[in-house]
Amino acid sequence: MSQKRIAVYPGSFDPITYGHLDIIERGLEVFDEIVVAVANNIGKKELFTTAERIALIREAVSDNPRVRVDTFEGLLVDYVMAQGARVILRGLRAVSDFEYEFQIAQMNHNLRREVETLFMMTSVPYGYLSSSIVKEVASLNGQVEALVPPTVYKALLEKFPRR
Ligand code: ADP
Repeated sequence: MSQKRIAVYPGSFDPITYGHLDIIERGLEVFDEIVVAVANNIGKKELFTTAERIALIREAVSDNPRVRVDTFEGLLVDYVMAQGARVILRGLRAVSDFEYEFQIAQMNHNLRREVETLFMMTSVPYGYLSSSIVKEVASLNGQVEALVPPTVYKALLEKFPRR
């Protein structure tokens, strides 16, 4: 009896960076399929709309049939169950991520015992890479080309034209 191992990788992805892609690539070594789940109504001030964030992720993973890109609203654990998955995949960077991630993982586990959260440590080059820092630097016309896929870089240039 072999069941497909599916993990849901949730986040804002505003926008997707090489740090996220690294987690997806490494996640595919462990899971048969990864559902990248873009949070709708994240409550954060977003630069890209949900549709734009999804399009940028699709473009970045287009050649991989084992990656599905979707959006979700409401309780993550309910979404995970509906996808036929039992695992939430998250990335951990600096120690500063820990407290927040721990709290959410514990709450999700309380909500649904059968759903586990698995953490993957960031790869060294991406330890301090986040969507927020990319947005901040790009808004000041700083160079972010090495941190995001080419289409994301182009999209950032459109949002923040070079002065
Ligand atoms: P959220 O708002 O849910 O934290 P993000 O898009 O910021 O959404 O992040 C989604 C997930 O990807 C989180 O688990 C985050 O820790 C992880 N992540 C983001 N950037 C990196 C990175 N550079 N290396 C490893 N994991 C990362």
